Amino acid sequence: MSRIKLLPETLASQVAAGEVVERPASVVKELVENSIDAGARAIEVGIQRGGMSRIRVVDDGYGMDRDDALLSLERHATSKIASAADLAAINTLGFRGEALPSIASVSRFRLTTREHGAVAGTEILVNGGRIETVRDGGEAPGTQIEVRSLFYNVPARRKFLRSETTETRNIEHQFFLQALAHPAIGFSLVREDKIALQLPITTSLRDRIRDIYGAELLGDLLEISARDRGGVQVRGWIGRAGVSRQTRSQQFVFVNGRAIESGMLSTALREGYHTALMRGQFPITFLFVEVDPREVDVNVHPAKREVRFRDPARVREAVVEAVQRTLESGRPDWQRRFSAPVPGTISPGSEPVERVPSRTPGEITTAPSQAETMGQDSARPSSFGVPHQPASSLPPLGDKGDSRPIEVNRSYLEPPAEPRRDQQFQIIGVLNRLYVLMENSDGLVLVDQHAAHERILFEELRRRMEEQGVPSQRMLLPQIFSLPPRDAEWVEHNVATLQKMGIGIESFGANSFRVDSLPAFLEVADAAGFLCKVIDELKTTSHSSSPLRLGEDMIAKTVCRHAVKANDPLRYPEIEKLIRDLLACDLPYCCPHGRPTMIQISHAELEKKFGRKV
Ligand code: ADP
Ligand code: MG
Repeated sequence: MSRIKLLPETLASQVAAGEVVERPASVVKELVENSIDAGARAIEVGIQRGGMSRIRVVDDGYGMDRDDALLSLERHATSKIASAADLAAINTLGFRGEALPSIASVSRFRLTTREHGAVAGTEILVNGGRIETVRDGGEAPGTQIEVRSLFYNVPARRKFLRSETTETRNIEHQFFLQALAHPAIGFSLVREDKIALQLPITTSLRDRIRDIYGAELLGDLLEISARDRGGVQVRGWIGRAGVSRQTRSQQFVFVNGRAIESGMLSTALREGYHTALMRGQFPITFLFVEVDPREVDVNVHPAKREVRFRDPARVREAVVEAVQRTLESGRPDWQRRFSAPVPGTISPGSEPVERVPSRTPGEITTAPSQAETMGQDSARPSSFGVPHQPASSLPPLGDKGDSRPIEVNRSYLEPPAEPRRDQQFQIIGVLNRLYVLMENSDGLVLVDQHAAHERILFEELRRRMEEQGVPSQRMLLPQIFSLPPRDAEWVEHNVATLQKMGIGIESFGANSFRVDSLPAFLEVADAAGFLCKVIDELKTTSHSSSPLRLGEDMIAKTVCRHAVKANDPLRYPEIEKLIRDLLACDLPYCCPHGRPTMIQISHAELEKKFGRKV
């Protein structure tokens, strides 16, 4: 007895639709992509009840004549490709000819379309895949598609829809993706018949990002200066070092204008950020990768969310390089922000609390009237009214002359007898033996002395490693240790790098090793135990096999042990040197584990806290 049956046409369509139309957001995606492919300049997306009761997409693209409008509802009918050669170099967002018939088979569907200059348009009504009405339509040129009661005839699918709020969020996400990829198209989103968002046509991605996410986010972003690297162009905006999110929700990656999800590119971003990203955090990226369409296969995923590159390594390298370059480009701006000299002490209108004669002229003066109160280096009193030196020359604030004001660790803050003339920052004190307090033109700066020192050591060691190798120190007694076979293999593979890192290690029989020297900067009692731990960590966190990167990871892992501890008391010259060294780093903003080295509390924030401003 034969067991195989051909499925009825409508059921077959519904099965196929399942691949393309997962939820209301997929309908929005497909319809908007069609509008973009049709050359639209303005696209309106309207939704009701999370798209479950209605989705409508209206565009001013080139529209269709009646024959095309009917054909567009046939499976595998497309105007976008005609031959296998076309499939190998896709320039459009769509190409399978599946979306419209799929959507129409699982909804109550209405298509009205009219070509520019045509006397009349066409209106087609489809119900669960059956064409019910074809007639003249009188809408404006362009195309309008309305999808009602999605999945009304596929209860299995309908059951899997989430709450209205969640489906709305999914739709908005799709909407933003398309809008980000096409700033030159005006987009509007209408929710329950009310305009929720209007994005005007613009020439720049920057404006589009601002219109969607607000100007504040832009301040946290750096522009990738576009560059071609081996036929791969990378452009866009990415978060500054130390700026990150707990989820991937703001990590956008586009390939040839198509939003995609790519593990390979996520890893590349992570690698580009490297020490500038905290563990478990995700970067903010609006990353656009452009490659020759022949170099990328977009026909991989039913919803076209994934792509396959012909030469993934080349794309990876281009992205890593672009991210690194961009993060470093943020340095001068950062330095300016954090080390700007203080133009005046107190905000206009209020009297200065006290004045101390200037001992050293400031390097940069803004206005003559302010020159007196700035550039006094360490000798200037802290904003708590605690003079650093001499302690008796100024009475502390407060009603009782002898009351001790807030402790700012004065004892460690003896300024040098001869303050440097090129001083560009104002150190106020050290809080809790950990945070160096500084003042700049924007307000208060807090530097984590441990994080700062880690960054400095990290960059110094990396430089040494690149140049002549990290100096190593012989151990009194070499140690022999063994590793599980997989770890042993990893070590054998990386012996040269470990040696460059100052670790004298060699094979000593099956899965055993002998270590006779360690980096000079390390002070460890149990070398073998320490190495086992480091190797274990390196193995799990180093995705890259490049020796340099491995060395960097190694340094990042070990540098912590050597850096100034949180409550190591530092003397003034040491603090000054610390800040100076930090400012000279390539990536001063964060420690090698991606934690910030400095935070800024602006005057505006302080004023808000004190209720001076709302
Ligand atoms: P694909 O986009 O893969 O070609 P679709 O099923 O999404 O398949 O659309 C089928 C065809 O209908 C498209 O190739 C296009 O010619 C036409 N079409 C769809 N939407 C529009 C639109 N908004 N404006 C003009 N033509 C459209
Ligand atoms: Mg399409």
